Amino acid sequence: MIPASFQYLRASTVDEALTLLAAHGDDAKVLAGGHSLLPLMKLRLAAPEYLVDIGPLDELRYVRLDGDEVVIGALSRYSALVRDPVLLEHAPLLAHVSGEVGDRQVRHRGTIGGSLVHADAAADLPAAVLASDAVLVARGPSGERRIPAAEFFLGPFTTPLEPAELLTEIRLPAQTGQGWGFRKFTRRAIDWAMVGVTVVGGRVGLVNMGGVPLRATATEEALAAGASVEEAAALAAEGTNPPDEPHATAEYRRHLARVLTRRALTQALH
Ligand SMILES: Cc1cc2nc3c(=O)[nH]c(=O)nc-3n(C[C@H](O)[C@H](O)[C@H](O)COP(=O)(O)OP(=O)(O)OC[C@H]3O[C@@H](n4cnc5c(N)ncnc54)[C@H](O)[C@@H]3O)c2cc1C
Repeated sequence: MIPASFQYLRASTVDEALTLLAAHGDDAKVLAGGHSLLPLMKLRLAAPEYLVDIGPLDELRYVRLDGDEVVIGALSRYSALVRDPVLLEHAPLLAHVSGEVGDRQVRHRGTIGGSLVHADAAADLPAAVLASDAVLVARGPSGERRIPAAEFFLGPFTTPLEPAELLTEIRLPAQTGQGWGFRKFTRRAIDWAMVGVTVVGGRVGLVNMGGVPLRATATEEALAAGASVEEAAALAAEGTNPPDEPHATAEYRRHLARVLTRRALTQALH
């Protein structure tokens, strides 16, 4: 459980982080809260030569309203998002989900940006940004680009970010007045979801129902066509490909998806 040796580089501004990443390319990894990257390094599943620590960059820690959009700095920690007044009023799903991630220590170190770039299908925030119709903003050597959440999760632990790009912020339409719901089924308290469901209005995100976080499109289409919550939730597992694991077979996961979708939709729409 000891990582391979690496060189630690501490960035004091976003520009400095971008310069360091551009200089070291594929040999470098960004370090944010470290709660996904360091375990991978200890298991020797990742062995970057350089770690570019962006943890101290307070300029990437904010939540604000910009017109009718909520804007979240990528380095915002879960513990701050849980109680942020702008989020609680205009994007309550994200505030609530942030409070359900791991334990207190994880929430004090882990960042929303780290969770999204890690792109684990079992993580909660990716499905929450999918249901929130968010856009992810990346900055790199050739400037800034915006990537819809629906195009961000390409495969297990894979995103369209280039090695020299930083995820800087997450933007989503203010959701004041829209119902939301969240259900997560875990084997133990304080754990990743066996299956999770996120809902904003009529949009539904699924946790751990395939290699990437997914939208439950059949459920969304049924709702839009006037189906009842029961009818729509019965379609939650359509088009999904959940993994078979010792603690949860694919069939059991599909069952959970239907049950949890019904509960999350009931929370959101009633
Ligand atoms: C005990 C434990 C329990 C957990 N439970 C849960 C849970 O219940 N639900 C859940 O969703 N997650 C859970 N997690 C994961 C946790 O939420 C992590 O904090 C999160 O996935 C990664 O965030 P981080 O800031 O620590 O990122 P890091 O570990 O620092 O980075 C993760 C990856 O993202 C890259 N990266 C980070 N920030 C940026 C950026 N701004 N731009 C470009 N690349 C970036 C890194 O290079 C790395 O590849 C748990 C973790 C632990 C250790």
